[in-house]
Order: sequence, then structure tokens, then C-alpha cells
Amino acid sequence: MEKLVSLCKRKGFIFQSSAIYGGINGCWDFGPLGVELKRNLKEHWWYTFVLSRDDMVGLDASIIMHPDVWVASGHVEEFHDILVDCKSCKKRFRQDHLETDRCPECGGELSEPRAFNSMLRTKMGVSDDTAVETYLRPETCQSIFVDFKDICSSTRVKIPFGIAQIGKSFRNEVNPRNFIFRSREFEQMEIEFFCREEEEAVWFERWRNDIWSWYLSLGLREDKLRWYEHPKETLAHYSKRTTDVEYEFPFGWGELQGLANRGIYDLTQHSKHSGKDLSFFDAGTNERYYPTVIEPSAGADRTTLAVLCDAYAEDVVKDEARVYLRLDPKLAPIKAAVLPLVKKDGLAEIAEALEKKLRLLFTTYYDHAGAIGRRYRRMDEVGTPYCICVDHQTKEDETVTVRERDSMEQVRMPVSELGTYILQRVSIRPIA
Ligand code: ATP
Repeated sequence: MEKLVSLCKRKGFIFQSSAIYGGINGCWDFGPLGVELKRNLKEHWWYTFVLSRDDMVGLDASIIMHPDVWVASGHVEEFHDILVDCKSCKKRFRQDHLETDRCPECGGELSEPRAFNSMLRTKMGVSDDTAVETYLRPETCQSIFVDFKDICSSTRVKIPFGIAQIGKSFRNEVNPRNFIFRSREFEQMEIEFFCREEEEAVWFERWRNDIWSWYLSLGLREDKLRWYEHPKETLAHYSKRTTDVEYEFPFGWGELQGLANRGIYDLTQHSKHSGKDLSFFDAGTNERYYPTVIEPSAGADRTTLAVLCDAYAEDVVKDEARVYLRLDPKLAPIKAAVLPLVKKDGLAEIAEALEKKLRLLFTTYYDHAGAIGRRYRRMDEVGTPYCICVDHQTKEDETVTVRERDSMEQVRMPVSELGTYILQRVSIRPIA
């Protein structure tokens, strides 16, 4: 982990927030390379689960919502005090009532503490006496339920269908830690999938498969992934069933995504509290009912961390240690570097012009500083899958070499074929 954290800072993937003021616990900034990596990850998720399917629509709702939303959802009620659970006997305790860090009943190991109302509060309004106290959302999904009626009436969705959203969430975690794994401000990628109750088991299973395939499509090693089925006694108040995808981080197994059957809890709660009927009217069968909700809920930051941990690799090339990130090309922040073999003989100018052309197709980088081997290493370290080298032969026949990061194999090809060759290998969407 230390090596990865240091690489992330050194190369501009992830910085501590407000570092010049001593930092702020639980908040992180994605630097020039980190922002591209996370954007690619989110785009790949959106493409897989929204754009390439005909049963999904998207939403981008406000972070701050009416405070009653959080009363209806159960968040105001449910997050009281600092709570810990015993992992053995499942008893729950107020942390400030405990004298040791083991369970007072059976001596078992205790879970992570949960903050007293882990929602971050804020005030909205221009003067103190009229300002309304509300919260920064602790999960993105509530806006999907609250907007359910508008979405149904403005589109032609028919059950079964889902609504997806990517956005920031905030939790006043008692103990933010493990780099970006547990932070106070983070991004979620959530889906609420609405189906008939009698089909809930089928859809749960389909989503289980789709989620698993998506993690594999990120290039994560399958033996580093596993499912964790929550026992009935520890399910959240809204859940009929929850199973998590976990990844084996250097600090242990950790949740990447939860898949829950939320039943009809949220739509009925919001109907009750708002006084607006959020049931679904099926024009085909003339029925009105509350659909069951299957929720895949993933963290963009945690997945980014898993991708980075999985990609980090070291080897020895010609007696020299090499650090490289085996990032899947579609996630890599820089797709191709254009490097003149030497700066002189007009090669730098040719390479610069080529890089300008290619940057219209995908992210590129130009570098002429230092020996070519060193420049290759610099690109390996940030996970750039392709390095294009402009050499003296380029001047004669307009060909270049393309070096692949992991195998370090080089192929020579005409400059005119470069764009398609690389696009086919780095694009999130298939290239026709
Ligand atoms: P944990 O048990 O680790 O606190 P959770 O079960 O409370 O997580 P969910 O409410 O299911 O998490 O949220 C869905 C996803 O959002 C998680 O799988 C995770 O990827 C992400 N997430 C939740 N809390 C955090 C956090 N504090 N920092 C980063 N990501 C988070």
C-alpha cells in the first residue's frame, strides 16, 4: 500500500485534500492522471449498465435534498450514537458504553464503529434565522426513489427497468482510513432496478452475474474477488437480502459493491411521508402496484483503488527494476505516448505533430526528455499501454514502432494505421 500511495502522489493520481494546510481527514483529490482514470471507470460503468442496455435510464440529481427525504428513508432515525456490532454474537453496543475493544458479552471481535447520525449536516438559506438545516446525501439512491414518478411519466419505461446515477455521497465516518477506501466524501455508482415481486429472485441473480462480469471486464484478477452474503440477522432495516462483492486489498478483504433487495420499502416510505402515490401503473395489465427494488450499489473510489492495487506490478528488465501499472487500456489515463527516438534530426518536430493529431482521438503524451528507455519506464509507471516511437526510418517511409507496455513487444506500422490500431484497443465502446 505504501508504494502505491507514494506512486499516486508522485505521479499525480491522488493527493491528500488541502495538504498545504495539513490535510483534512477523509477527503482526497484526484490529480491530473487520477481524474482521467476515475472518469474512464465511471464512463465504462455508465456504458455497460445504461447506454448499452434498453432497460435502463439515467439521472443526475441534486446532492442536497429536502430534509424530510432523510426522515422517510430512515436515515434520521437509524443513525444514532456510535454503534458497534459483535461479529460473533451479533449484539450491538454503544461504543461509549464499552470498556474494552472486545464484545462485553462473548469477548468477540467488534465491527467498525458507526457514527451518531453519520450524515453531514449543512444549512441552506441566506440568514441564520430562516436557514433550513438539511444534509449532504449519504447515498445517491434516495433521489432515484423521490424522482420515480417524474421519470415514469416523462419516459416510456415499463417494468422491469432500472434508473442509474453516479454522484457524490458524504458520510461522517468515525474512522476514515486505508487511503481512499473509506473516506467522508466519495462517489457512488448506483442502480435501482424495479421489477415485479415474483421476479425478484431472477433479477437478483441476473444482477449478480452482470456485476461480476463488470469487475472482470476491468481486468481485475478473479481470485482477488469474492461474494459475501450478509446473514439475515445483520441485514439493514430496508433489506430482504444483501450480498457484497469484495476485493482482497493489501490491507484485507473490503467491500466494493453491495447488491440488495430493498423490496418495496423506499417507494412506500416516500409515498407515506410525501403524501404522493409512488406506485406504478402498468397500462398493459391495468394494474397499479409498488415494484420490488434490486439495488447494485458500487463505490467509484473503492473500485479505482482496487484497479490500482491490482495493476501495480514490479519486474526486472535488463537488470533494472521496473514498476508498472497493468491497467486495462480502456481505463488507462494516457492511452499512447509519442516519443521521438532522439530530439535532433527533425524527429522531435515529426513526433510533436503526430501527437497533436492523435490527441483528438484519445489521450496522448509527448516526451523527448532523456534516453528512450527511461521515457518508456516513465510511461509504464503510469500505466500507458502504448508508446509510439518516431525514429529515422519514420522520415523515410512514414512508419513508427508501437511498444506494448506489459510484453514490451514492438511492432512497426504505417502512421496512417495508428489511430484505428490504438482506438480499437483502448475504447470503451466497440469500434465498428
Ligand atoms: P461499509 O460497510 O464498508 O461502510 P456500506 O455497506 O455502508 O460500506 P453501502 O451503504 O452499501 O456501503 O454503499 C455502497 C458502496 O458505496 C460501498 O460498496 C462502497 O463501495 C461505497 N462506500 C460506502 N461508504 C464509503 C466510504 N466511506 N468511502 C468510500 N466508499 C464508500
